[in-house]
Amino acid sequence: MSSGALVIGAGPAGLTSAYELAKLGISSTIIEADEQVGGLSRTVSYKGYRFDIGGHRFFSKVPLINELWREMLSEDFLLRPRLSRIHYRGHFFDYPLKAANALAGLGPIEAFLVMLSYSKAKMFPSAEETNLEQWVSNRFGQRLYEIFFKTYTEKVWGIPCNEISADWAAQRIKNLSLKEAIRNALLGAGKSAEGEVITTLIEQFHYPRLGPGMMWDCCKDLLAEKGNETVHGIKVDKIRHRKGRVESVVGHRSNGERVEFDADHFISSMPLRRLIQSLDPLPPDEVLAAANSLRYRDYLTVVLMAKREDVFPDNWIYIHSPEVKMGRIQNYKNWSPEMVPDQSRSSLGLEYFLWQQDEEWTWSNDRLIDLGIKECAQIGLVEPDEIEDGTVVRMKKAYPVYDHNYNDRVDIIRNYLETLPNLQTIGRNGLHRYNNQDHSMLTGVYAARNVVGEKNDVWAVNTEQDYHEEVRSSETEKSSTGYTKTMGDRAVPMPIVQDEADQIIQTAFARLDGVALGVALGVVIGVGLFLATMILLLKGGEFVGPRLGLLRNFLPGYEVTWGGSLIGLAEGSLLGFGLGFFIASLRNWGMMAYAYLLRRRAETEAAKNVLD
Ligand SMILES: Cc1cc2nc3c(=O)[nH]c(=O)nc-3n(C[C@H](O)[C@H](O)[C@H](O)COP(=O)(O)OP(=O)(O)OC[C@H]3O[C@@H](n4cnc5c(N)ncnc54)[C@H](O)[C@@H]3O)c2cc1C
Repeated sequence: MSSGALVIGAGPAGLTSAYELAKLGISSTIIEADEQVGGLSRTVSYKGYRFDIGGHRFFSKVPLINELWREMLSEDFLLRPRLSRIHYRGHFFDYPLKAANALAGLGPIEAFLVMLSYSKAKMFPSAEETNLEQWVSNRFGQRLYEIFFKTYTEKVWGIPCNEISADWAAQRIKNLSLKEAIRNALLGAGKSAEGEVITTLIEQFHYPRLGPGMMWDCCKDLLAEKGNETVHGIKVDKIRHRKGRVESVVGHRSNGERVEFDADHFISSMPLRRLIQSLDPLPPDEVLAAANSLRYRDYLTVVLMAKREDVFPDNWIYIHSPEVKMGRIQNYKNWSPEMVPDQSRSSLGLEYFLWQQDEEWTWSNDRLIDLGIKECAQIGLVEPDEIEDGTVVRMKKAYPVYDHNYNDRVDIIRNYLETLPNLQTIGRNGLHRYNNQDHSMLTGVYAARNVVGEKNDVWAVNTEQDYHEEVRSSETEKSSTGYTKTMGDRAVPMPIVQDEADQIIQTAFARLDGVALGVALGVVIGVGLFLATMILLLKGGEFVGPRLGLLRNFLPGYEVTWGGSLIGLAEGSLLGFGLGFFIASLRNWGMMAYAYLLRRRAETEAAKNVLD
């Protein structure tokens, strides 16, 4: 039994890990560099206004995580309606995209050009689909791609879309709605396999009454009640290890004071690059080089306080318009009314996605607030004289960057970390994975359980090799692939062997066996003809079987005679076999084509949400 664990970082992953450890009877100390908990999911307070780093929706397909959220916050966990739109060149478009609304907003000439480019993409799609540009253009046409995907995605990632892997989009939509879309196409819109109405995550989400930070403040308090301390203001910069075991971590307070912590188990949610750079002694050069080349996209939000009760009805608006730098704008009182101190006021969070090397990153707060006010006026949201105050929050390493080589580099690091079994890395930047809170938390839960001897692979969460907790909805349940997904009250991670959407298609359109249908029809036609000929011959008469005899036109040599009955048996069987085989093949080809169309349609539907 362990005597204690040390957790680095009091974001969702670190706090959840400590929370699970406490449930398992293991005490922990959480070391946090900042004065506040929550990490990227914190809530910042400013003169009674509260706001997120971005806007943090709480939604998850992992029942375990939904249970944890409810357990921590109970009635303070609100269910909120979602409204979000795209702003492009003076127009607002529904998001997720709707064809009629998009075409109406674009105007007749642009709509015509969009239809032309869409038809071209359908008739002559790009054979290659390796980058995001090709992937989206093949589904929506080049013109729609440029209007609704290109500018926003490039603002967020700072990389041209043709340098972003197509896997990114494919992976993002994989679990989003492809399965539901196919199910809906087969079973009727809006119905689950059990016939329940699916309330989509797109229409509503959960949100803590006082913003996401409320969840993490609460988690910290629950941990403290059980004697697990969160120590603030210490930045870990050394992880000391010897003979394949981590022995202690060393950190520094802002005044330079050095602090060292021992433990038996170490769980880190600090960025992977920094973790490797902090190892003492340092790992081999190849590992260090892999870590040094990991990149992060940084983020800055300008929050403007407006003297207006209602600025716009959305929770957030995507700003595709290329003439402004902001990428998205949040209206926090639409997330929860308690995010503003006075209902006659609104607070708007203007989001800028940057690199720390960008000039704007170093601008003064006043200059950034001026930029925000100017851009809001430019796109017609608020007038400058309506803004009475503003503030700026900078957040480094908001997005782990998926460039062409990041996966290989992460593999190198991961292999090396296996040589230090009492050190686990978790979370979003800890695994260099584009995780939301739920997946970040799940890695924390798994790491805690590994401490007591379970063997969970935290690296497999939110990957192609999805975990079955994603769909677990009751204590014990069989998935569509037939896997049992629980063991006692524990969720057991099991890799999905095949894409579930494909399996639904295959189940719905089971192939007809051509040989079996051929043999069956062959027997029926051959034996049927043989018996019919015999019966007519036995009945006798002046003209025996004049009509049946016409079959000689199709079956050479057949006639209603004793010898003819054997020819009929042989040729009828052959004809039946051929017919059965042909019908089965035709039906299989038709179904394959239909399944292909269904998959493409479902992918296109799901791709409409790719901006989220
Ligand atoms: C703009 C934006 C919008 C988002 N929207 C959503 C959303 O709608 N829904 C959702 O679920 N998720 C959303 N996310 C993702 C969510 O914020 C993350 O998944 C989550 O916060 C990751 O948790 P974490 O604990 O892994 O990391 P973090 O939140 O980054 O926490 C890590 C903690 O470790 C601390 N730390 C780092 N280094 C050290 C060190 N050396 N020593 C001590 N402490 C250290 C940090 O200070 C931080 O507190 C969004 C993220 C962004 C950037």
